[in-house]
Amino acid sequence: MKIRAQIAMVLNLDKCIGCHTCSVTCKNVWTNREGMEYAWFNNVETKPGIGYPKDWENQKRWNGGWVRKSNGKLQPKIGSKWRVLAKIFANPDLPEIDDYYEPFTFDYEHLQKTPELEASPTARPRSLITGKRMEKIEWGPNWEEILGGEFSKRSADYNFEGVQKEIYGQFENTFMMYLPRLCEHCLNPACVAACPSGAIYKREEDGIVLIDQDKCRGWRMCVSGCPYKKIYFNWSSGKSEKCILCYPRIEAGQPTVCSETCVGRIRYLGVVLYDADRIEAAASVLDEKALYEAQLSVFLNPRDPEIISQARADGVPESWLEAARRSPIWKMAMEWKVAFPLHPEYRTLPMVWYVPPLSPIQSAAEAGKMGSDGEMPDVRSLRIPLRYLANLLTAGNEEPVAQALERMLAMRSYMRAKTIDGVIDDAIARRVGLKANQIEDMYQV
Ligand code: SF4
Ligand code: SF4
Repeated sequence: MKIRAQIAMVLNLDKCIGCHTCSVTCKNVWTNREGMEYAWFNNVETKPGIGYPKDWENQKRWNGGWVRKSNGKLQPKIGSKWRVLAKIFANPDLPEIDDYYEPFTFDYEHLQKTPELEASPTARPRSLITGKRMEKIEWGPNWEEILGGEFSKRSADYNFEGVQKEIYGQFENTFMMYLPRLCEHCLNPACVAACPSGAIYKREEDGIVLIDQDKCRGWRMCVSGCPYKKIYFNWSSGKSEKCILCYPRIEAGQPTVCSETCVGRIRYLGVVLYDADRIEAAASVLDEKALYEAQLSVFLNPRDPEIISQARADGVPESWLEAARRSPIWKMAMEWKVAFPLHPEYRTLPMVWYVPPLSPIQSAAEAGKMGSDGEMPDVRSLRIPLRYLANLLTAGNEEPVAQALERMLAMRSYMRAKTIDGVIDDAIARRVGLKANQIEDMYQV
């Protein structure tokens, strides 16, 4: 066993309001400069949607030439040396600017210079690439949400007969949620493995993954290699760049900018202890549905005295052990099992985890009673299909996600009974396999 400490993050999707404050503050601090106009180290996607860059979850597209053999190893789909050479020298699997979006600003000058009009002037979008005014923005990272708005406006004109009724019915049944995304600072980072220059490294002390700008030669293998598409090529410097998890702030004892400015207070930043010797085994599990459990197996209990003394022997500093003990990440991921990795089937062992949304709580409440009698709705009748969340967070394994949603609903029922009716109902906690003090702990976090 080799114990290491890692900065990790849990994002509670039940609380994200899609305000994009995290993305904007991150952009202002880290990517507000030439060459990085299109880059968002942190972005917030509307799901279900094709995401940013477009179609990033379609691993077949970006991994075009590779297939996984029965022993878990990757091999070129066309087994010819030409395919391998093409992969190495031409790197054909890169997203293009249209897969992100054409970066634009607004025509603010128009607001200042326009002559007096009856209606107030509008600042139109202007391309940051061509400098020209854009009549129409073709696509954006939250496009599906905008389409939803358009559709609801148009559906107001429909009568509710025939096809229109059918479409309106479908619209009513649609769902959406927000997915804030940043580099996962993976335990098994594909970007590090893909870099031919050895420019990308994972810091030993805190697990932050960084690109040495002096060593980067602009091969962009990291861009195609990262399954989360969280590396951006800076066209001005000719180097790749990525989220640095605000390491200068972390070193000064401050949270990341996205965590500090998050309006919904959805971001939990903390330290986890893990066994570096278990990474390979966890990443090579062939049964995809077992991958989530396998990823849990690398974490170590920061309150176990044996783990603590081994961690000390392995050189983990006392302050980090204390941070791991105080961090809520272990509890959320391991004790309450309400937080999950994003796409564990990518096998990079991501370190940004997510609490699934209740989609929204209003629909959870409508789906069944959530009163002080402790009755709870069937999580399979919530608005966001369980299968969708499971495909996102547990490689299709629905049971752990169902249990997490039940626990979150139980927490609400328990606290409602306690605060409104003044009843402490242990049975609610027991029904979801927790103790009353664990439920109260969950509520505090
Ligand atoms: Fe590397 Fe991508 Fe993992 Fe970040 S998310 S560490 S860029 S593989
Ligand atoms: Fe969601 Fe917080 Fe970002 Fe707002 S700032 S979009 S609440 S993660």
